[in-house]
Amino acid sequence: ENEMTSPGYEIPPELRHQVTITTLERIYNWGRANSLWPMMFGLACCAIEMIATAASRYDLARFGMEVMRPSPRQSDVLIVSGTVTKKMVPQIVRLYNQMAEPRYVIAMGACASGGGPFKEGYNVVSGIDKFIPVDVYIPGCPPTPQALLNGLIALQKKIKRQSLRDLPWYQKGPAEPIPVPV
Ligand code: SF4
Repeated sequence: ENEMTSPGYEIPPELRHQVTITTLERIYNWGRANSLWPMMFGLACCAIEMIATAASRYDLARFGMEVMRPSPRQSDVLIVSGTVTKKMVPQIVRLYNQMAEPRYVIAMGACASGGGPFKEGYNVVSGIDKFIPVDVYIPGCPPTPQALLNGLIALQKKIKRQSLRDLPWYQKGPAEPIPVPV
């Protein structure tokens, strides 16, 4: 127990507005973190582990994320799972721009995080973060389903710490789309 939680403590009038916002944020972020909708978008071998994560053994449904969406309009988490080729980059950026805000990106595996074994290849980019912002990186080639779950839990923790006022769309409305590389 501290001074603020002791029975006789009264919130100073100038702070009452902030306390209400803080409580609303906690409820709002709790709801957001537990109802993320990942986009179904596999690029290579890592995608097989992502599919396994959604099946009964690892049971992604426990975290409120079992509804993988085939449409960016209905998704707020992009799991980039696999090798990102130069030809795929424009499609990934376009899909990212079409996702609902606030939106998040997970780079699943060595390829999505930094190029992986194809780093020096002629047709592979060295990480999707060169084109869109990444919130969580998951190491491995491929990462196990447990590693993906760990990354998703890390994302949930990040969302729960966010302040409404820090989210760009809350202050400025929809973000400017990222230019699609050609
Ligand atoms: Fe395949 Fe490994 Fe690249 Fe994943 S990180 S897409 S398993 S080569």
